[in-house]
Formats: sequence, C-alpha cells, structure tokens
Amino acid sequence: MKLQVDLSELFAAANRMGPPVEDGFVLDVVHEPWEDKLGAEGIELEDIRELVVEDGLLSYRGRQVLLYIQDHGGKIQEALLNPDAGKRFHVSECRTLHDMRNKGRFERYVVTNDISGEFRIAGYDYMSGQPIEGKAALKVCKNCLKYLNYKGYSKPGNYSAFSSFDLDEFFQSYSSFFSHHPRRRMGEEEGYARDWSEVSRDYRQSKGYVCEQCKVSLAEYPRLLHVHHINGVKNDNRLENLKALCADCHSKEAFHQGMYVSHTDRQAISRLRREQGFSRPENWKQVIDLADSGLRGLIELCIAEGLSVPEVGLDLADDQGEIKGMLELAWTRKKVAVVIDVQDREFAKSQGWKVFGVHDAIESFEKIKAAL
Ligand SMILES: [Zn+2]
Ligand SMILES: [Zn+2]
Ligand SMILES: [Zn+2]
Repeated sequence: MKLQVDLSELFAAANRMGPPVEDGFVLDVVHEPWEDKLGAEGIELEDIRELVVEDGLLSYRGRQVLLYIQDHGGKIQEALLNPDAGKRFHVSECRTLHDMRNKGRFERYVVTNDISGEFRIAGYDYMSGQPIEGKAALKVCKNCLKYLNYKGYSKPGNYSAFSSFDLDEFFQSYSSFFSHHPRRRMGEEEGYARDWSEVSRDYRQSKGYVCEQCKVSLAEYPRLLHVHHINGVKNDNRLENLKALCADCHSKEAFHQGMYVSHTDRQAISRLRREQGFSRPENWKQVIDLADSGLRGLIELCIAEGLSVPEVGLDLADDQGEIKGMLELAWTRKKVAVVIDVQDREFAKSQGWKVFGVHDAIESFEKIKAAL
C-alpha cells in the first residue's frame, strides 16, 4: 500500500513553532525500502547508464551516491592492510569514470550512499586462491576532487582536500543538489542533556532568534536557528559553550555529522538575509560565508582567476513581483549568474540572464570569465 499524505501544512506549522530540539535531530519523512538496501551494502551496478550525473555529482534514483569496485582480486590482503593500496572510490563524473563510460566496458561498480567510509571489499588469497572478504577505509579518487575543485583542490600544493577528505562532510556540502539525504545513523541523538530542549529554546530566545555568525534574524523561522556547542561536547551546556547559528552557518562549521540542510532552507535563509539588508558581500571571504556550500569549488576557482565579487542569493521575480527563483551568484551588471535549481535556471534564462550550472561553470570556466 502506498500512502500519499500532504504534509505541507504540518511543515508550515513546524516552521512557525520550531521543534523543541535543535542541533541533533532531522525530520525525515521520506522513507523507501530500497533506500536501506542501497545504504547498507550498496547495489551492484549492472549498467553504468543507470547512474545519472547532476551538476557533476553522482546520482542514483534521486540520491547522491558514490561508486566503488568491490572486487580487489589478489590484491585484497594488501588493501585490507593499507587502504592506500586499495581501489579509489568515486564521488563525481571524473575523467576515470567518464572514460569507463565511453569504453562501455568496465569493472563492476557498486553504487552506495553509505557514508561511513568503510567499504566492503572482496578478493582471494594470492597464494591459496581462497576467497577473502573484509572492510577497508578506501580513499577518494583524486580526479574526482579535481573535477569538482573540491575545497580548492586544484590549487597547487593543496593536499588537505584529499588527506582530510570526509564523506559525511562531502555529502553535506552538496545537500542542496539532492532532494533526499542520508538518514542519521542510530545512536547519534545520544549525548544531549535531558533538559536540552529547554536549554536550546531559552538560549535562542535570549539571543532574539538572531544567528550569532551572519546576524540573520529567524524569529519567524525558529526551526532554522540551531544551538551549536562550541567545543563539540553535546552535553556541555554552559552559556559560554553555546552559539546560536542559522542552519546555513551551522552546516559550515567543521566536524558536524549529518548536518543536511535542504536547498529550500538554504534559500529561505539567503532570502531573509537579503530582506534584512546585510548580504551584499564585499569580498570573496564573505561570498564563501554567505553562499551555498556546494559552490565552494567554483568560488575557489573564481578567486584564483581574480573575478569580481558577485552578489549572493538574488531573488528573481516575474512581472507581477512573484518570486520565481534564486540566483546563487549574480554579476548583475553583466547579467551573468550561477544557479543550482534547474527550474530557476530556465526562468533566469527567460529573463535574459546568461546562466551557468555550478559544474558547467567549473568545466567551462573560460566561458564565464569571457562573459564578465
Ligand atoms: Zn573519480
Ligand atoms: Zn547564519
Ligand atoms: Zn553544532
């Protein structure tokens, strides 16, 4: 039986009231059986054409996924001992994957949205031929990082994007590009003090529902204002350890597990910042703070190439003044924009904007440069 329930009213109400607990819980109503299968063990991809590329990222049935090769043959023992010797996993349509696709023949890939960083691999003992299985913390493919310019990876001498690569953080960065997000693993809600909901509510109230980082006021959307623990200890509720952060600023803090902010929520925050008159960035550092985290690779490229500072989160309205979409980055004088949402892209084009998707802009950077 399939249940179809319109939850928009409920969400609107939740938006107004805000759930009692912040900084730890995400309401995920969407639940499909195959999703569990995909997350736990992954699904062997019979045909790589099932894989969809969205703005350079890998997508399978609307979910952000990664690909890896389970079969390590006679090299499995080495890979189990030293993950560096294992096969790399892919997070984008990089050159390697692109070549594979073109050749039409390739090793068997497994598609998964398990972001634990532990991969089940298989092979055989090279002496005895006996089958072996195990889990290895495989490393990310460097071509993928280059392709996305993840955390400015292309910059010479920048190894940290590779050496400190974290799958959870990676998926969070691109949460605006997907409608469904990995569900929180069991047990992650643990660690909060019993009176956390009151502490959180009182604290937000005491700050007037203002984000202490970007200063946006979320009085009308308390749900989007979180209370962050500065030292990372979730039951240390001393006032000096708390900080009220909007969901967008919060997701940009380091070492946050499972902070999946939807594109709609990010856009709502962006819109409020503009309405409240303080989202005009004066330099690229401010652009990074204000823009969607999925734009980071592109922004790093813009900085390296010396582009002028764009506006962030510009609303697009039709002739009746109804808001139809959002330009994530906009160079208004030249009418050049970068847009995430595909429908927003179409609308912007119809309004005479020269529009780039995030990955188009990275891939054909010369075009965006020439347009400015
Ligand atoms: Zn790759
Ligand atoms: Zn903020
Ligand atoms: Zn936090």
